[in-house]
Amino acid sequence: MDFSTTKTQAALIDRARQAAEAFDPALTPAGRGFWPAAGAEGWLGLCLDRDHGGQGLGAVDTVLVAEALGRGGLSRAALFSMGAHLFGCAMALQNHAGPALRAAWLPRLASGAAIGALALTEPQGGSDTGNGRVLAAFDADGPGLTLTGTKTLVSNGPLADLLVVNATRQGATSALQSSVLAVPTDLPGLRVTPLTSHIGLREAPMAEIHFDNVRLDRDHVLGRPGQGLGILLSVMRWERSCILAGFLGAAERDLVAVTRALSGRQNSRGRLIAQQAVAHALAELRVEQEMARLLLYRGAGALEADEGAVIYPAMAKLAISRALVSSARGLQELMAGAGWLDEMGLATALTDVMGTLSASGTSHIQLNAIASGLER
Ligand SMILES: Cc1cc2nc3c(=O)[nH]c(=O)nc-3n(C[C@H](O)[C@H](O)[C@H](O)COP(=O)(O)OP(=O)(O)OC[C@H]3O[C@@H](n4cnc5c(N)ncnc54)[C@H](O)[C@@H]3O)c2cc1C
Repeated sequence: MDFSTTKTQAALIDRARQAAEAFDPALTPAGRGFWPAAGAEGWLGLCLDRDHGGQGLGAVDTVLVAEALGRGGLSRAALFSMGAHLFGCAMALQNHAGPALRAAWLPRLASGAAIGALALTEPQGGSDTGNGRVLAAFDADGPGLTLTGTKTLVSNGPLADLLVVNATRQGATSALQSSVLAVPTDLPGLRVTPLTSHIGLREAPMAEIHFDNVRLDRDHVLGRPGQGLGILLSVMRWERSCILAGFLGAAERDLVAVTRALSGRQNSRGRLIAQQAVAHALAELRVEQEMARLLLYRGAGALEADEGAVIYPAMAKLAISRALVSSARGLQELMAGAGWLDEMGLATALTDVMGTLSASGTSHIQLNAIASGLER
C-alpha cells in the first residue's frame, strides 16, 4: 500500500490548484459561460476517455485533481455542479451507452458545449429508487418508448442538455424492471421548472423536470431495457466515490485559513492558537478530514480495481459528508463573530455542506448499503 503521490500526480495536483486559483470567480455554474471555461481547463472530462475529448484519468487521479480544485478555491457550487455533470451523467454514458450515443454526446459534455445532469429523485421520495413513478412505456412493435412523470432536485436541471433518468417499465410488477435512459432536454413534452429556494450551494442550479409523453428512441436506453438497477448502482458508485472530493480540498483550505487567522489573533494570555482548547479543536478537525480523505482514496481505488462492491462508495460518501459538516461547524464556531459575519465564507460553507448529507443518497441510505454487506 503506497500513500505517496507520484511525480505525475504531483504535477497534476499543482496544475489543477493553480488553474483554480486563476479561474474567474464571476463564472458560476448557474450561467452557461462557466461550462466551456471549465471544459477548456479539462475539468469536465477528467475521467472520460481521451478519444471522447476527456483527460483519460483513472478514478484516483480524478479525485486528486478535484481535491486540488477545492484547495485552489473553486466554489463548492462549481465543484458540485461539475461532479453531477461528470460522474452522474457523462460517466454513465461512457460506461453504459452504445457507441453512437457516446460519440454524439461525450465530446460535447467534455468541452462544456453540452451540460449533463442525473435525474433520479421523485417528488414522493428519492430514497426509494425501486419504487419510481416516472414510467417508460415501451412500444410493442415501434422504435421507442414514451416517458411520463416528474423528477425533482435535479442539479444542473435548469441548464442541462442531457439527462440520465431512471424509469420504471409501465406495468412492471417488480422494482427490478427499470431502465436508465439518456434524455435530451429539447424533446417535445419535456418541461423544466427551476427550484430556487435551496439553502446552500446557491449557485449550483436545480430544477424539477416534467415528462409529459416524451417520445424517445430505444437507442437512448443505457445498457438494455430492464437493466436499470445494475446501471444505477454503477452510476452511484462513481458519484458517491468522487463527487465530494473537491469539497474535502475546500475544507482543508478553510482549515488552513482559520489556523492562520487564529495564529494572528491575541488575547491577554497570548496567541489564541497557543491555547490548548483552540489548538486541539483544530487538530481534531484535521484528523477528521484526513480519515475522510483515506476513505475517498479507498473508494476511488475500488473503482479503479473495478470492485463492484457498494460499500466503499457508501463509506466514502458517508464519512466525507459527515467530516465536511463537522469541519464547517467547528471552523465557524472557532471564528466566532467573524464566522457569523461570514468574513471568510465559513457560514456559507456550513450551509453548502449540509446538502452533502442528502445528495447522492442520505446517510441512512449509505448505512443501509454498508449494513447490507456486513454478513458477506
Ligand atoms: C445538494 C443536493 C443535490 C442533489 N442533486 C440531485 C441530483 O442531481 N439528482 C437527483 O436525482 N437528486 C438530487 N438530490 C436529491 C437527493 O438525492 C435526495 O434528497 C435524497 O435521495 C433523499 O430523497 P428525499 O429528499 O426525497 O428524502 P426521502 O427519500 O423522502 O427520505 C426522507 C427521510 O427518510 C429516510 N429514509 C427514507 N428511506 C429510508 C430507508 N429505506 N432506510 C432508512 N432511512 C430512510 C431518509 O434517510 C431521510 O432522512 C440532491 C439533493 C441535494 C441536497
